[in-house]
Amino acid sequence: MRDLRISVTDRCNFRCTYCMPAEVFGERYEFLHHNELLRFEELTRLASIFSGLGVSKLRITGGEPLMRKQLEKLIVLLRQVPGVEDIAMTTNAYFLPGKAAALRAAGLDRITVSLDSLDPAVFHAMNGTKGTVEDVLKGIAAAQAAGFGPIKINTVVKRGVNDHTLVEMARYCREHGHILRFIEFMDVGTRNGWSMEHVVPAQEIMARIDAAFPLEPLPNNYYGETALRYRYQDGAGEIGIIASVTQPFCGSCTRMRISAQGMIYTCLFAAQGVSLRDPLRAGASDGELEQLITRTWGLRVDRYSEERTEEATAARDRIEMYYIGG
Ligand code: SAM
Ligand code: SF4
Repeated sequence: MRDLRISVTDRCNFRCTYCMPAEVFGERYEFLHHNELLRFEELTRLASIFSGLGVSKLRITGGEPLMRKQLEKLIVLLRQVPGVEDIAMTTNAYFLPGKAAALRAAGLDRITVSLDSLDPAVFHAMNGTKGTVEDVLKGIAAAQAAGFGPIKINTVVKRGVNDHTLVEMARYCREHGHILRFIEFMDVGTRNGWSMEHVVPAQEIMARIDAAFPLEPLPNNYYGETALRYRYQDGAGEIGIIASVTQPFCGSCTRMRISAQGMIYTCLFAAQGVSLRDPLRAGASDGELEQLITRTWGLRVDRYSEERTEEATAARDRIEMYYIGG
């Protein structure tokens, strides 16, 4: 266990079709109440316990993490946890113009922005109508102006929806110094209408980019890295592809996930989690919480992506992405 992904809210201002389709998450959808969410102090205490167990990297996610008020206060607290070397956040960038400087000052190290296409029509088809490409680009610019290093861009690839815009995205990221990560469309949760027909395999994504801008493979940066990495032969940076569907990496997974309401999950495709919030609020000691975490991690047998077939795994219950965090 090396990485902890912390979901700070189940709410989002966007309605990406592959994550929170608008027809399911409408006006009347009931999100978690504020007192159900882990408070910043509770999260920080848990982060210290995780750090004692070997976690050195934290990623703040959601839902949209910037929907959580005063998120920078959490970053300040997490920054003080001994053993935490790296704090990153994944965001849709909408609120970054008003937040990037405060996040940087609070000690956030890195930002990943999700952007599936630069084409406004494709963006709307994939990410809903609550934001625009312009909003996201403004957010990225704000992050750069606040001093965040190269920004990572996550692009979920869905066949027939945005795959004709991938080369354009690669060109844009090359020119602007962003590190692009293509993500194979995944069957996270049960409400996004996933089917293998919509997945563009990593090999094909690589071949399409390589045809426009020749690529060569790069070695892994560290054990458990999820992206297959390539660099442009002309030296204009790198891309990565997260091939969770066609080249699963369950065997080297070092990630634990904690939901906004304090459930821990040992897999993105898990059906069940274990509550840390309930024992924590009932007065459990650090040692007791540590035991619960160690036991949960020790018992894990997750290899969902390795077992995935359209028939066998489709019927399994799974936690939704907006809840568990990406
Ligand atoms: N709201 C933030 C954002 O969109 O960046 C953070 C949470 S989001 C759930 C985290 C990442 O998961 C995003 O990059 C998103 O594109 C990705 N994601 C969500 N649903 C997905 C799916 N079904 N397949 C692949 N990636 C997905
Ligand atoms: Fe919101 Fe991120 Fe999910 Fe899109 S992927 S609906 S921005 S949580």
